[in-house]
Amino acid sequence: MIVMKFGGTSLAEAEDIRKVTALVRARLPEHPVVVVSAHAGVTNELDRLARAALERATGIVGIRERHLRILRELDLPADLVEDLLRELESLLTGLSLVRELTPRSLDYVHSFGELLSSRIVAARFRHEGIAARAIPSWDLGLVTDGNFGGAHPQAESWPRIRRSLERVKELPVITGYIAKDRDGNITTLGRSGSDYTASIVGAAVGAGEIQIWTDVSGVMTADPRIVPGARSLPRLSFAEMSELAYYGARVIHPSTMIPAVEKKIPIRVLNTHAPEHPGTVVLDDGPGEGPAVRSIAQRRGLTLISVVSTRMLLQHGFMARLFDVFARHEVVVDMISTSEISVSITTDSKKDLTPVVRELSAFADVEIEAGKAIVCVVGEGIRTSPDTAADILDTLRRAAVVTRMISMGATGINVSLLVAEEAVETAVRALHRAFFGS
Ligand code: ASP
Ligand code: MG
Repeated sequence: MIVMKFGGTSLAEAEDIRKVTALVRARLPEHPVVVVSAHAGVTNELDRLARAALERATGIVGIRERHLRILRELDLPADLVEDLLRELESLLTGLSLVRELTPRSLDYVHSFGELLSSRIVAARFRHEGIAARAIPSWDLGLVTDGNFGGAHPQAESWPRIRRSLERVKELPVITGYIAKDRDGNITTLGRSGSDYTASIVGAAVGAGEIQIWTDVSGVMTADPRIVPGARSLPRLSFAEMSELAYYGARVIHPSTMIPAVEKKIPIRVLNTHAPEHPGTVVLDDGPGEGPAVRSIAQRRGLTLISVVSTRMLLQHGFMARLFDVFARHEVVVDMISTSEISVSITTDSKKDLTPVVRELSAFADVEIEAGKAIVCVVGEGIRTSPDTAADILDTLRRAAVVTRMISMGATGINVSLLVAEEAVETAVRALHRAFFGS
């Protein structure tokens, strides 16, 4: 059994969906389980409609026309998704009447994207003579906690999904991204969460491979928008992929690795628009052959919080106190570095940090600087190559990029550097030249 997950750009238009059905057809002997995202842009549009409903009553003309056009171009009946469109319309009317949008109702609105696309894709398979069935993930037994907008799967999901899928005789076309909590409320796994659904399903059924079909030919040595000469990587370890996914290599959702690592299932990143390209396979096998540095990622939009206190000197419990403030205000911390009397922390939180600063100021001097970016150099070989860290710093020095913070994680496979947002492209290009040539 294999899982084949198709992202929004692989399902954007009728012609893309035809490519998808051909790709799946060619792999029918491997018993695929298909997981789908919403058609490209639909989740963003649903999100916009939900927020607009707070101001005024909104129609769903754009969403309706988009799906009707796809149905028409795929020779599918125009009323295939009418019930879903009506339900979405009523929901938005309801929101505009009560003028209230909770994280729970926002997830409900988002869920229509995948409900619509899964139904359309399954119908197209049937139209082409392949017995297929659209299945909302909750009908398989995917249960999450009630953390709307970023829900976590619960342990009972795995055996339930396995048993449910054993009973499905048709080709399953499963909704990515969305689920339900134990009370039956619709939840989502966080934006781009369809990848995560794919690996949850893959781990549940013990798939031979989890394929993430997207619009790039695998994971690259750097973001091709910054480095036009970036190359696709044939393979990566789970640890490397986790660091890269977290630090902004947009290719797959960071949580995707969790179920796959546990079951040691390879993840393969493939390009729907260039399917003959082997893409990147992510395996549980450590460094392997090749250069120490595998890839360079960047993440913008970070804020640096500097905390200085002489009271830290020889104190125990200072860090606990500090992080307790972040935990209570639900501020996610990315990168940390400390000296004896100071701690630097970065966050990508869009929250107002004023209350955090106020609390920290009770026991330290606090400074906030927005507009920062992390450049992250990743490779299993960094751990055992004493030159890499020196080469990184030397390269940045020569490119006149000022580094505000440096950190090397416990696994020793990444060196992360905090730089000004304006310097991030210069830094990435210089590092790419140094480690991969031009
Ligand atoms: N459709 C959702 C999003 O746009 C989930 C996904 O694409 O994986 O975030
Ligand atoms: Mg995606």
